[in-house]
Amino acid sequence: MNRTIYSFAMALVAVGFVMNAARGAEPSARPVAIKVGRLLDGVSEKYQRDVVILVEKERIKAIGSAADVTIPADAEIIDLSKATVLPGLIDCHTHLGSRADRYDEIYRFKNTPFHSGFAAVLHARKTLEAGFTTVRDVGSRPFLAVDLRDSIAEGFLVGPRVVASGPGISMTGGHGDLNRFAPQVRVSTFPEDRDFNIADGPEQVRRVVRAQIKYGVDVIKVHASGGVLSRGDAPGAPQFTVEELKAAVDEAHAAGRKVAAHAHGAQGIKNAVVAGVDSIEHGSLIDDEGILMMVKQGTWLVSDIYNDDYLLGKAIEFKLPQESIDKERAIGQIQRDNFRRCVGAGVKIAFGTDAGVYPHGDNAKQFFYMVKYGLTPAGAIRAATADAAVLIGRDKDVGRLSPGLVADMIAVEGDPLEDIRALETVGFVMKGGAVVKNELKR
Ligand SMILES: [Zn+2]
Repeated sequence: MNRTIYSFAMALVAVGFVMNAARGAEPSARPVAIKVGRLLDGVSEKYQRDVVILVEKERIKAIGSAADVTIPADAEIIDLSKATVLPGLIDCHTHLGSRADRYDEIYRFKNTPFHSGFAAVLHARKTLEAGFTTVRDVGSRPFLAVDLRDSIAEGFLVGPRVVASGPGISMTGGHGDLNRFAPQVRVSTFPEDRDFNIADGPEQVRRVVRAQIKYGVDVIKVHASGGVLSRGDAPGAPQFTVEELKAAVDEAHAAGRKVAAHAHGAQGIKNAVVAGVDSIEHGSLIDDEGILMMVKQGTWLVSDIYNDDYLLGKAIEFKLPQESIDKERAIGQIQRDNFRRCVGAGVKIAFGTDAGVYPHGDNAKQFFYMVKYGLTPAGAIRAATADAAVLIGRDKDVGRLSPGLVADMIAVEGDPLEDIRALETVGFVMKGGAVVKNELKR
């Protein structure tokens, strides 16, 4: 072969490879019958044994004991009879555009939106392969999560179903602002809208919520207290007034969008609950009054109780600023202890990890801590399946294994009710009836 033609042909092969690797798998044209050894359907606390799940195109057609479900003659058979099958997992707090190796503050100035976009493509695939078939992204550059959601939904990229927010909305000097650099420093993509990010007073908050909805977000994220990974603000300090938070909630709910409130401090949590937000993210310094209010209102808690290990470990090697190290040291353990109190009091818990703070794909490491701090293994799994689906408003499609729902499921080799860490090694992933990964040993 002529050398030029040869390299051209090789280039085409390479492009084909990349396209195949990037594109989402399609569901089988034939019905698929999955033989399941042990099944946890997302609701029940106990296994069903020797079950058959019949999948047609994207959805579950039937599910029942091997004796009850008739397998069509032309069905493709997937044998998971030696494995444990669960609904695809859901992480309600991720940042798919964020990298866990870029804690040096210089990246606040060096990163372009493209860096986040490239990172998100890789992270979406890692997250799906780890068994998380749905995630809520609660904070990225405008409007990365929206575009990522759409590119995955059309099958152009491999990744989980994404419930997308815009940038977290913050007051001036708040957790989402760029604080304590010289006043002449600006890092913005859309200066006139201050990146759809900063708002002061109920009217500006309304406007930013409306603008985010205009560009397609599914959920609104607000910052109701200071944070750990921001400069010059205290996690315990409330941010935004109740009136500002109410403005965000009113606008979002009127448009059928839920509101997730970042809140570490006790007062910020209470302000957000009074304003009517749907979930409190972090909840680290919650007090008894706040716990009672959340129970009464039915506000969800999404508490990221794994990433303390990473922030006080590897992140320091990646130049996590001293201020953030000090804040994490001050509240990390309190957050875990307060998670236990919330579980004991009956606060509704949904699984969310702040992926991006630690490496994407390690999401399941949080299950161990949720069990250590008060949930049963079945309760922790439910928080990441049926219950998470309710919080994100997708329970008619995902979170359970039941006829009519989309066929999102995973399989693991061990017994997660016995050892929850079995979920850290997911061998089989199906999303929307398409097999994404099948590496289970027989
Ligand atoms: Zn976060």
